[in-house]
Amino acid sequence: MRVKGWAATSAGSHLTPLEYELEVEGSHEVLVEVETCGICHSDIHMIDNDWRISHYPLVPGHEVVGRVVAMGEAVEGLRLGQRVGIGWQASACMTCPDCLAGNENLCDANEGLIVTGRGGFASHVKVDGRFAFAFPEKLPPGASPLLCGGVTVYSALRAAGMRSGQQIGVIGLGGLGHMAVLFASRLGNSVTVFTTTPEKVEQARQLGAEEGLLVPANARAPKPTKRLHILLATVPQSLDWQGFLEWLGSDGTLAIVGAVAKPLEIPVGALLGKRRRVMASPIGGRATMVEMLELAARLGIAPRVETFPMEEVNKAIEKVRHNQVRYRAVLTASQR
Ligand code: NAP
Ligand code: ZN
Repeated sequence: MRVKGWAATSAGSHLTPLEYELEVEGSHEVLVEVETCGICHSDIHMIDNDWRISHYPLVPGHEVVGRVVAMGEAVEGLRLGQRVGIGWQASACMTCPDCLAGNENLCDANEGLIVTGRGGFASHVKVDGRFAFAFPEKLPPGASPLLCGGVTVYSALRAAGMRSGQQIGVIGLGGLGHMAVLFASRLGNSVTVFTTTPEKVEQARQLGAEEGLLVPANARAPKPTKRLHILLATVPQSLDWQGFLEWLGSDGTLAIVGAVAKPLEIPVGALLGKRRRVMASPIGGRATMVEMLELAARLGIAPRVETFPMEEVNKAIEKVRHNQVRYRAVLTASQR
């Protein structure tokens, strides 16, 4: 099939139209016609080659909702015409201990949709059908940011021990951060948001946070009213880790999901006295994805999005780069 996509041709370039062929070849593959695709900050990292793994031309986009239009003979549980969601992960080995434990996101052989293939800023995408998830009817197609941002924060918070009735801190109220606030608050936790954007202090409360705190430039983050059980860092840059760690209670966990390039500099003493931990977490496994989607449908958790026609992808990317989107940009497919 002839596919129309939008591609970066070199690090940091604007996206320009690119046509290419995509066919179902492997027996597990599905071809999906894109309806919507969120713009995750990881797309920006990939366009800019921040992680030194980008290949050009690069078609970004890994928060896809669309319809199955073709599939291999071994695909199970999906039918032609079905609405599915696709996230960062395009495949895994399915046989290693991590895959067998339902942690396909931790598989050594896991492949990122936009690392080894072409992403969702396009008319169609192709993935292993085991990484295309039935998209609940109750969710609007524009809820595509759940597929990467949503599962990433939900999975990290669960892995860090989130239950209900806890104090949860969220650093950064962007795409990931705002979905963390939605999940943590709807599950009965008291949420504190740390933001660098003054108007988001109030917006955090509207999303369900108990407390919004402004972090002034080059200054220590203000103290939350109560010490935190979990602090989720969703910012794509290094922070005053030691300052933030002080706001964690005993056995508290700092969970990092932001792709921070700079090594962490944390004195053991900042952890030792209160038995604190630091962890980082990539996306989520298949079981977590299904659980998250079902929960979002049941609790009515839909990301707050600004939509752009696919042709305005460069305008949308600029807004993401300037932290102007509230809270996730979503591209909608061209009418054919
Ligand atoms: P985003 O929508 O651009 O939001 C990032 C937020 O971080 C901003 O809204 C802003 O919040 C805050 N921020 C503070 N300083 C910033 C700076 N210098 N540049 C940009 N933002 C700054 O990004 P996102 O899509 O949520 O992604 C956040 C990070 O998570 C990225 O590094 C992304 O690659 C990573 N990520 C990781 C995974 C994973 O599997 N671990 C999955 C998806 C994304 P305030 O205005 O509130 O300060
Ligand atoms: Zn992402």
